[in-house]
Amino acid sequence: MIQGEDTQTGRNTSPQLDKILHQQHNVLDHGFIRVVDYMGNDSSIVQAARVSYGSGTKKVNEDKGLINYLMSHRHNTPFEMCEIKFHVKLPIFVARQWIRHRSSSYNEYSARYSMMEDEFYIPEISDISPQSSSNHQGRNIGEKISVEEAQNAIDVFSQDSAKCYQHYLDLINNDKEGNTFDNSKAGIARELARINLPVNCYTQWYWKINLHNLFNFISLRIDSHAQYEIRKYAEVIYDIVKKWVPYASEAFEKHRLNAKNFSGPALEVIKKMANGDNIDEESSGLNKREWKELTEFFNK
Ligand SMILES: Cc1cc2nc3c(=O)[nH]c(=O)nc-3n(C[C@H](O)[C@H](O)[C@H](O)COP(=O)(O)OP(=O)(O)OC[C@H]3O[C@@H](n4cnc5c(N)ncnc54)[C@H](O)[C@@H]3O)c2cc1C
Repeated sequence: MIQGEDTQTGRNTSPQLDKILHQQHNVLDHGFIRVVDYMGNDSSIVQAARVSYGSGTKKVNEDKGLINYLMSHRHNTPFEMCEIKFHVKLPIFVARQWIRHRSSSYNEYSARYSMMEDEFYIPEISDISPQSSSNHQGRNIGEKISVEEAQNAIDVFSQDSAKCYQHYLDLINNDKEGNTFDNSKAGIARELARINLPVNCYTQWYWKINLHNLFNFISLRIDSHAQYEIRKYAEVIYDIVKKWVPYASEAFEKHRLNAKNFSGPALEVIKKMANGDNIDEESSGLNKREWKELTEFFNK
C-alpha cells in the first residue's frame, strides 16, 4: 500500500491532500482554487491496474514501478479511477479557455439568477507586455514596454471595468446590496444587463475531473505556450495534485511534463547527430519551423 486507507470508512485517502481540503489558494488578483472533494489516491491506480494483471497490491517499490510503467506506456484507464472536485473563481476570459477541456464536469455561477460581483481582473504592471512577434497567439513576457504605456493599459482596464459595472447596476436598477435605485423604473433582467460586462469579470464554478484528463489539462496549460493567466491556475492545481498523488505525479513529470515527442524525421536527424554526422537545416530534410524547434530544444 503506497498511500493511506481511512480506517473508519475503508476508503483510499490522501493524508497530504486532506490537510488542505477546502483551503483557499489565491490566484491572480481576486481568483482562487480550493479542493472540495476527491476520490482515490496512488493506491487506487495500482489496485485498478492489478485487476487487469490478476494479483493484489505488492511492495511500495513495485507499486511505484507499476505506476511508472502505466504512465510510460500510456495505459491510461487506471488513472481515471482517481477523481477530484475543485471550486474555482476565475476571470471569464480564462474560463473560456478552460472550458475547452470537455472531458470533465462543470457547474457555473448563474449570472441570470444572481448578481455579478464587482470584481474584475486587472493585471500587474509587470505582466503587461507587447504582442510576441514569434508566437502570434501570445505576449512577450519580460519584453520592454514603457511604464507609461503599461500604466495607461491598467488605467483603461480599471476605468472601463468600473464604468461597465456601474452601467450594469443602473440597468438592473439595483445597488450592490440589492437596494432599488429608482422606484419608478422596473430595471432590466440580470440575464440582459450582464451582456455589457467585460471578459475580465470574475465567474465561479465547480469542476470535477479524473486524474488522466487532469494531467492532460496540466500539461497543456502549465506550458509556456498557454496564456499566463491560465498558467497561474494550472501551477496551483499541479501543486495540489503532487500532494494528492505523489507517485503518479512523479511518473507524469518523468514521462509527460519533462518529456518530448519527436516526429519520425526529427528522430532520424537526432540519430545522425548522435552518430557524429554534421547536419544543417538543408541536409536535415526538416522544414524551417521543424528545424528551429529541434535546434532550440537542444540548445536550451
Ligand atoms: C496553447 C493553446 C492554444 C490553443 N488555441 C486554441 C485556439 O486558438 N482555438 C481553439 O478553438 N482552441 C484552442 N485551444 C484549445 C485546444 O484546441 C483544446 O480544445 C483544449 O486544449 C482541450 O484539449 P483536449 O481536447 O485534449 O481536452 P478535452 O476536451 O478534455 O479532451 C480530452 C481528450 O478526449 C478526446 N476527446 C474529447 N472530445 C472529443 C471529441 N469530440 N472528438 C474526439 N475526441 C475527443 C481527445 O482525445 C482529447 O484529447 C488551445 C489550447 C492550448 C493549450
